[in-house]
Amino acid sequence: MVRYSILGSGSCGNSYVFSFNGHSIMVDAGYSLKQIVQRMADGGFDIAEVDALFLTHLHPDHAHSAGTFARRFHKNVYLSAKCLSYAGSEYWALNIPKDCECTIDQGQIVEVGPFTVECFYTSHDSAGSCGYCISVDCKTFVIVTDTGCYNSLMVQAARDADVLFLESNYDVEMLRRGPYPLALQRRVAGQRGHLSNDQAVGFLSDAGFAENGKLVHLIHLSANNNTVQLVQAATQGFNAHVCARGERYCYDIN
Ligand SMILES: [Zn+2]
Ligand SMILES: [Zn+2]
Repeated sequence: MVRYSILGSGSCGNSYVFSFNGHSIMVDAGYSLKQIVQRMADGGFDIAEVDALFLTHLHPDHAHSAGTFARRFHKNVYLSAKCLSYAGSEYWALNIPKDCECTIDQGQIVEVGPFTVECFYTSHDSAGSCGYCISVDCKTFVIVTDTGCYNSLMVQAARDADVLFLESNYDVEMLRRGPYPLALQRRVAGQRGHLSNDQAVGFLSDAGFAENGKLVHLIHLSANNNTVQLVQAATQGFNAHVCARGERYCYDIN
């Protein structure tokens, strides 16, 4: 049985853990290590079983405690090859030990214990940002987050997934009428920003989720420009679970 948890998701922090047969991998570490340990423990996960951390990109809501995790547990931290090649102060500040630093490139397959991990590049204002396909025990999980637009590679990955994690960051009207200055509104809604609720629904339709009834977790909801109710309304007709900001969810899948 594969167990996984959305330890938390949203603009305040993002982290996921997948567990099988005493092995786990974590995707993103956007909370303090103390909080991650606590959130895992509350869901019956053990951080000592985490063999590696995979980062989607270096924004603090995803990478906050990547360095602390690597130094404390001496486990590998994977980031995309492009991300490392552009690494600047944001990366060096994490202080990930050199011998824990690993890269993954689009088209490359990385094996960690029973897990097979592949990545695909996303379109975000953080160089080398990526999403992941994680396979274990004949199940595939796909994470698409922090991307201003999507492409056929991401849609195909989602088609092949058993469970999808998809960003549904903002409601177009709420963003337009909300408190963000115009420049920030353009950033969020731009090609290198985030997916809107409408884009998420388009993605789900393109990936066949209206017909196949597969489970999708809608993640990374904006605190200012979205609500759970709006995402639920937009994704009616799909087997959709909307992740309230910062809430923890656990699932078992056979
Ligand atoms: Zn980001
Ligand atoms: Zn983010």
